[in-house]
Amino acid sequence: MEATKSNSSIVILHNAMIVTMDSQARVYRNGTIVIQNDTIIAVGKSLEILPQFSHEVVDLRGQIILPGFINTHVHTSQQLARGIADDVDLLTWLHGRIWPYESNMTEEDSYISTLLCGIELIHSGVTCFAEAGGQHLSGMASAVEVLGLRACLTESIMDCGEGLPASWAARTTEECMKSQKDLFVKHHNSADGRIKVWLGIRQIMNSTDRLLAETRDTAKELETGIHMHIAEIPYENQLIVETRGVNHGTVTYLEKIKFLQNNLLAAHTVWVNEKEVDCLSKAGVKVSHCPAAAMRMLGFAPIREMLSAGVCVSLGTDGAPSNNRMSIVDEMYLASLINKGREVFSRGTTDPTALPAETILRMATINGAKSVLWDKEIGSLEVGKKADIVVVNPSSWSMMPIHDCISSLVYCMRTENIVSVMCNGCWIMKDKKIITVDEEKVLSMAKHASAELLKRAGIQIPNRMNFL
Ligand SMILES: [Zn+2]
Repeated sequence: MEATKSNSSIVILHNAMIVTMDSQARVYRNGTIVIQNDTIIAVGKSLEILPQFSHEVVDLRGQIILPGFINTHVHTSQQLARGIADDVDLLTWLHGRIWPYESNMTEEDSYISTLLCGIELIHSGVTCFAEAGGQHLSGMASAVEVLGLRACLTESIMDCGEGLPASWAARTTEECMKSQKDLFVKHHNSADGRIKVWLGIRQIMNSTDRLLAETRDTAKELETGIHMHIAEIPYENQLIVETRGVNHGTVTYLEKIKFLQNNLLAAHTVWVNEKEVDCLSKAGVKVSHCPAAAMRMLGFAPIREMLSAGVCVSLGTDGAPSNNRMSIVDEMYLASLINKGREVFSRGTTDPTALPAETILRMATINGAKSVLWDKEIGSLEVGKKADIVVVNPSSWSMMPIHDCISSLVYCMRTENIVSVMCNGCWIMKDKKIITVDEEKVLSMAKHASAELLKRAGIQIPNRMNFL
């Protein structure tokens, strides 16, 4: 590799421990990474890399550099709904709170909600996310552009189902497909290539066969991905068995109609049997595991079995009303614990070796990149890839002492240990301060917009205690 000529656009970070997450799992104890514009042009041992450059360097002694984390299932539209559906049953959650909330959103609400969500994502080291399917994609896109993040955006798509809000129930299959194609033309590859537009299926209980077939074919034609909630609750599988003539659930049915393909990102995928895990693996379907939402609302997905079967599993936070915390750092910790604990139920004995820390780190980085079909450019720190980088400062009570760096990143690291974040070669957070947006201003906009939105949607949150 040769030293590059252009001076101003070169950033050199050195003296850090660099966890590359490349295919050889290389970690440089004292490493240097060189970034030109939006691309990594060198990474390796400081002693070998530094002499090739005469540029100014940023000394990150004692800090750890990782690839930007990838959150593969998040509802940016739902950030203003944090706390509107805590401790309620599933029917109240959906029909009484979430649908009225989402169906009353404006594009401005979606913009503000995505800004607020993005701030939390950046603080936890996320540089790329996959939107699960929300309202007003154009509002999300404007926010992502400003925040400096990378994202696969998806519109919430439903063309049938019981009890839908009137404006959604009126939507035909044609309208659903046309709207998504228009959004694809308008926003795909926008914001210097940071925004991709995907197709969405909110869930099978709100999709006709025609919508499923057209989504499958259109995604192929546009060479983009599909994001869909799959096998979330036992009732979903039951209904599919009763109405669509298959012997198990959603995955079995999707296999039958050839919907399972390598561009499908399946969220949750909790209620699947062994045969269905096999189908997911053979088809190259990616699974987004959202541990907090799973524990709270859905159940324990067979993640260890999926990984053993070769399924690419990544991590997601889900939305604020399902989890409340949009920190992928918390999800890493939870993913490790929930899947160790689940062994008691699946095998009758505990297994502290299930989903070790290095597996969890892969799920949050390179598996995330594969899940969003972007692994040629992101997910690991390698020459030629985009500069999406997280800087961790472990010198705090939460992480010290460090005897095993990789396990500390999963079992000890808190969101507060993430100090700086770079996406596409630009710093979007430095020393815990978001550079791209004014956090205080967004907080005040969010407070106002969410109060107005709840009023419009007629949602009232009952008091739990005797407020005086
Ligand atoms: Zn979701």
